[in-house]
Amino acid sequence: MAQGTLKIHSENILPIIKKSLYSDKEIFIRELVSNASDAITKLKVLIENNEASIKDYAPEIRVKIDQESKTITITDNGIGMSEVEVETYIAQIAFSGAEEFVKKYDSSSEKDKIIGHFGLGFYSAFMVSSQVEVISQSFKAECPSSHWVSDGSNTYELNRIDSQPMGTKIVLHIDEESQEYLEESKLEAVIKKYCAFLPHPLFVGDKRINEKEPLYLKSPQECTDEDYKDFYQQLYPFEPAPIFWIHLNIDYPFNLKGILYFPKVTERLEFGKCYTKLFCNRVYVSSDIKELLPEYMTLLRGAIDSPDLPLNVSRSYLHMDKTVRQLGSHLSKKISDKLNQLYNQDKEAYIPLYKEMEVFLKLGNLQDEKFYERTKDLLLFENSQAEWVSISQYLEAMKEKTKSKVFYHIDTSESHFLKLFKEKEVDVLRSTSPIDSHLFQHFESKMTDVKFQRIDGGLDDLLTDTQQAAPKEELLQFAKDSFKDLKVEVELKPLSSSSVPSFVMIDEDQRRFRDYMRLQKPDFSQDLFGKKTFVLNANSPMISKIEEIQKNKPELAKELLQQLYDLSLLSQKELHNDALQPFLNRSMKLFETLLCKE
Ligand code: ADP
Repeated sequence: MAQGTLKIHSENILPIIKKSLYSDKEIFIRELVSNASDAITKLKVLIENNEASIKDYAPEIRVKIDQESKTITITDNGIGMSEVEVETYIAQIAFSGAEEFVKKYDSSSEKDKIIGHFGLGFYSAFMVSSQVEVISQSFKAECPSSHWVSDGSNTYELNRIDSQPMGTKIVLHIDEESQEYLEESKLEAVIKKYCAFLPHPLFVGDKRINEKEPLYLKSPQECTDEDYKDFYQQLYPFEPAPIFWIHLNIDYPFNLKGILYFPKVTERLEFGKCYTKLFCNRVYVSSDIKELLPEYMTLLRGAIDSPDLPLNVSRSYLHMDKTVRQLGSHLSKKISDKLNQLYNQDKEAYIPLYKEMEVFLKLGNLQDEKFYERTKDLLLFENSQAEWVSISQYLEAMKEKTKSKVFYHIDTSESHFLKLFKEKEVDVLRSTSPIDSHLFQHFESKMTDVKFQRIDGGLDDLLTDTQQAAPKEELLQFAKDSFKDLKVEVELKPLSSSSVPSFVMIDEDQRRFRDYMRLQKPDFSQDLFGKKTFVLNANSPMISKIEEIQKNKPELAKELLQQLYDLSLLSQKELHNDALQPFLNRSMKLFETLLCKE
């Protein structure tokens, strides 16, 4: 029997590590199963190189719970360790890693540290165990089997024992606080989470846990759409099928394989959460990797596996890592390449996909300069002919008419006004999301001279007639007086079409500011801000009629103008809640007047 003192100077290492690692206690299983898997991989390499001769090698890892003895045992038939190796790797190296860890973090207030970086994988066993045994037999048959036991304080015992099967068995005597892991369903869930893609057969009890290979390891040519969808289901069992995916295979400047999925956006987008799962050599590390990716990419899902990323993952540590810092920009490049390829190959097939992922693309354009350069022409808007065009295409098509102005409207609002643009054959793009106003601002800052204008954001020369209708100076003055109290300016313009009696012009910049404020603070009052101008169409017969009425019945004329004003706001989706009741009351009154006259 050998006794020894662990090469640790701090006697209180266990409580410190337990405390620091508490939130990630379950990773002990990941660490021990990965060690088992590594041991098998090592032996396979030796067999391939004829340095070990084992016939019909059938690797396996087994995790067993024994309720009576309150133990969890992890057994592998890998390379195993000789007595000296146990002493060196388990007692010295693993524990010296622990010492380094304690030195570094004893006084640190940072929680949430994870250990692998310090070669502490094995030590994590003590987060859940009052005692740990290691029973090992080296693949070299001549080495005797050994048995190591420690309670995580700074002493251990190491004995030679009767010959054991090749490989290593780790017996964890689960402590009082960690009894939950003795429940098979709990342990199985944790193992599935971390080890579902482990390369060697893994059993919990008699159940095989890792039946399938992770699809990202295959070459894209071998994968069918069904395969991609199935893999997505494996990663996110309760999610609807994704809309499309990008198979990644990067070898420079780091190795990375993976599949990124564009999910179906069903509910309101949730930011601040990351869904992409990070693996390291098929072992799940974390999905809390939002610091590693630009915000827009956190909308994506999928799995990325890179052996070059350290398994260990203190998140702040990962952030510092050079490889990791390049991750976001490499993924951004791959995504934009793929999107360009899709667009160029078949625009018709691209459009439905675009509709599903436009939020992602738009955010990416706003947040990532390079992504903007690569994908700005993949951002499409529906024009008046229901064709999907990019901003450059719009500008090119409209250059004679609008110079460098891009007209847009919001969904179905301003539709009465849209007619004017149709008549003049000026295309208007449909803006579908509140992000658009940021995006337009962004385009304006990038493309000199280009200006975006919502169709009711100003009155363009395009839409006015050079032929002035009969002047209605008296009506204009009357209307100005009527709207003085509301602080609304009134203008009279000869519009090219007589079908629109009036509209409300809202200053483009002020509206954008207001929309921005509303995005930040949904209860931001719209009426406090945004200069409004009520434009009367001098060419409208309805306006001429009101001019007549005004001469004999000024009160009625005033109400009619107010009604027109509210109707314009309503059709532009700008009528405030407070104005709704007066609008309804007035409507009733006007009805009565009309009906009583009959
Ligand atoms: P790391 O895995 O980061 O090297 P660990 O503390 O997990 O650090 O393990 C220390 C060493 O102990 C390993 O590098 C390996 O040589 C040895 N070891 C641990 N578990 C096993 C095992 N199941 N079979 C063979 N060797 C093992």
